[in-house]
Amino acid sequence: MECTGCAGAKLITIRMRIAGEEIEFRRCSKCEVNHWADGSGDITLDEVLELARTR
Ligand SMILES: [Zn+2]
Repeated sequence: MECTGCAGAKLITIRMRIAGEEIEFRRCSKCEVNHWADGSGDITLDEVLELARTR
């Protein structure tokens, strides 16, 4: 998987489970942009925090 920010750099992918949801965290080693995604697509960090807080 490649970074959408700088197109080309490798992303570090970490899968974790938050409040029963499979969450994927991707971090670009080049531009240090963070991406979050759940089963249905990209989500924002705010949504991740919301998930962790409300369940
Ligand atoms: Zn990048």
